[in-house]
Amino acid sequence: AQLTDLKWSKAPCRFCGTGCSIMVATKAGRVVASHGDAKSEVNRGLNCVKGYFLSKIMYGSDRLTQPLLRKKDGVFHKDGAFEPVSWDEAFDIMAEKWKATLKEKGPKGIGMFGSGQWTVWEGYAASKLMKAGFRSNNIDPNARHCMASAVVGFMRTFGIDEPMGCYDDFENADAFVLWGSNMAEMHPILWTRIADRRFGHPHVQVAVLSTFTHRSFDLADIPAIFEPQTDLAILNYIANYIIENDAVNKDFVAKHVNFKKGAQDIGYGLRPENPLQQAAANPDSGKSDPITFEEFAEFVKPYTLDKAHEMSGVSKDALEKIAKLYADPDTKVMSLWTMGVNQHTRGVWVNNMIYNLHLLTGKISTPGNSPFSLTGQPSACGTAREVGTFSHRLPADMVVNNPEHRKKAEKIWKLPEGGVPDWVGSHAVKQNRDLKDGNINCYWVQVNNNMQAAPNMMEEGLPGYRNPDNFIVVSDAYPTVTAEAADLILPAAMWVEKEGAYGNAERRTQFWHQLVDAPGESKSDLWQLVEFSKRFTTDEVWPAELLDANPDYKGKTLYEVLYANGKVDSYPLDQTSDDYANHEAQDFGFYIQKGLFEEYAEFGRGKAHDLAPFDTYHEVRGLRWPVVDGKETKWRFKEGSDPYVTAGSDFEFYGHKDGKAIIFALPFEPAPERPDEEYPFWLATGRVLEHWHSGSMTQRVPELHKAIPDALVYMHPDDAEAMGVRRGSSVKVESRRGHILSRVETRGRNKPPKGLIFVPWFDARQLINKVTLDATDPLSKQTDFKKCAVKVVPV
Ligand code: SF4
Repeated sequence: AQLTDLKWSKAPCRFCGTGCSIMVATKAGRVVASHGDAKSEVNRGLNCVKGYFLSKIMYGSDRLTQPLLRKKDGVFHKDGAFEPVSWDEAFDIMAEKWKATLKEKGPKGIGMFGSGQWTVWEGYAASKLMKAGFRSNNIDPNARHCMASAVVGFMRTFGIDEPMGCYDDFENADAFVLWGSNMAEMHPILWTRIADRRFGHPHVQVAVLSTFTHRSFDLADIPAIFEPQTDLAILNYIANYIIENDAVNKDFVAKHVNFKKGAQDIGYGLRPENPLQQAAANPDSGKSDPITFEEFAEFVKPYTLDKAHEMSGVSKDALEKIAKLYADPDTKVMSLWTMGVNQHTRGVWVNNMIYNLHLLTGKISTPGNSPFSLTGQPSACGTAREVGTFSHRLPADMVVNNPEHRKKAEKIWKLPEGGVPDWVGSHAVKQNRDLKDGNINCYWVQVNNNMQAAPNMMEEGLPGYRNPDNFIVVSDAYPTVTAEAADLILPAAMWVEKEGAYGNAERRTQFWHQLVDAPGESKSDLWQLVEFSKRFTTDEVWPAELLDANPDYKGKTLYEVLYANGKVDSYPLDQTSDDYANHEAQDFGFYIQKGLFEEYAEFGRGKAHDLAPFDTYHEVRGLRWPVVDGKETKWRFKEGSDPYVTAGSDFEFYGHKDGKAIIFALPFEPAPERPDEEYPFWLATGRVLEHWHSGSMTQRVPELHKAIPDALVYMHPDDAEAMGVRRGSSVKVESRRGHILSRVETRGRNKPPKGLIFVPWFDARQLINKVTLDATDPLSKQTDFKKCAVKVVPV
């Protein structure tokens, strides 16, 4: 193609939470090229290797193009083979199963598992269909596996979700501290900004803490390998160091901080019969009482340098250097973390404890002083969190078990009083258990690959999908292991085959237009949700009392109540010159994406979650909320930057009624499963640069597949030698739950210390989630994928 023949448009990257803007070239109805968007403040023209190959992700040879139903002798059969069916037949059998289950078990018998890869309006439409239509809060996103601890961490410390800082902090910080994060591979574009800052300013320091050495250590001035779980002890040591060295910002603390002790729950979210269940539950953690600064100081006092060194294995020199970065009043510190902290049985605590350091020193909400929780998925923030697709949430940080919040949702959604159920639905891990135990019988999975991501998959995942009482539907663009475990597969449009919006890690909402049509009969998740809603009337799914009290709703379809409700459908299709603009919406006859977005935006306006009007986002390279009077907010909680801060208060953590953030006194707690004689290694799982998540898209790009085709077992050469294996040898990695077979890598990019192995999870042929432990943080219900005990056996 001649360059001049190409039509170039902007779209955010399909992959990680960095939120790079991409220029996408189309020609003759096909995406043919992509490059970094030079106008983007996020990536400034760059992409990582995944972004450079985005143009190929839609054209894998095994793309799903029509619905597939398991059949035997021409009818649905759980053990049948997949056969192509029409959309009508697909929705008919779905509706039949849903109606039977709703009749027998009520709304708790159905469930949905979504994603931080849903567009904003897809997540919103799904949440509305489940919570307001089917009156079931059994909907959760796969963000439960990645961001749930960050959310609870924010809510506990600040009373409001998401980072107060932004990416501008990269150009202002004097020190970067990575807590268990490998940004060089997982957030490579942000890593280029750190590298620029580090190389251009000799005084800048980078500290990298992890349980194994990885590529981010190439830039580390202060490298620190710690024993898994002892981040809890290191953080308390640093708090103690700050206090003992008189580095507390007393004025800031007095004005803006309260102190509390304890958590609110115990146990690991394992099945009660599991012997590990309460093994390390801390009796102290049941309380969350106010304490004084002096009591906090007493609490962290035992976490001395000696103790932190002894527990973590990190050198005293490195520990002190990291502590000094926080304590030095002239050093602006940016702390960065993601799965290493969140996928942790005390992930919420670690989030809280990082905030403790920034609050003690007042290093927060100003340029370069930034505790920054990174995200993994492109719209973990914009969809999973802000839209509230979690089983306990509603939009704009509201929750289903608060009557005032439900009332607000019912008003905006034009529902009768009592329309939104008050019970907290099942979270991701519990949904799998509910399926296995037959408590949920109908289940719809959209835009995620949970069979490859859920923990302890053979015991707690797959059995539920194959339970003969259950009907499982999976919407995806490719035949993933999750789709193959389903009863019905629905082909999904992806990325620029539909109009969309994502929200990245710095609160930046970004839009894109539909640029090409989806292949065959594949349709967007939004279309699938809305079409399915037409198959149900309120009389079939709402309780008689609710309808008797509100007869206007009787006999209406869920489609009419939720989407064609006189509000969402009030936006006409745009008549633009764009070939594909509104293409998808033409099926509905109104601008459904705009209607859903504008209705959703009502939740946050005036509540410190303000979004700009729909049309604005198609013009700009994203805006960071709250957007008030057309102006985005870079640093929240800081006067002069955040319009919600009361004049004269300097800082105001308005998520809490008294405007103060909370420092929590939280103890060390051992990991639920540790290496022992039988299972002598720690196992950590994670990602690699070239593949995104389960590899369902990047494995279809030949260049990325060839770059790193297999998930290897990264281990220390001495451990390999001790067991008589070498690089390339076949081994079995086995835990109490399952095993995988793979090959040893002793020289690769990841260099574990002795006693720990690392296995990435992108490879569907090496399902490491058969091995991982399904222990969750008791507060966030997020699983710890970063540590369990395994043995490695030569085969
Ligand atoms: Fe940017 Fe992430 Fe996409 Fe790479 S994968 S181009 S870092 S958004």
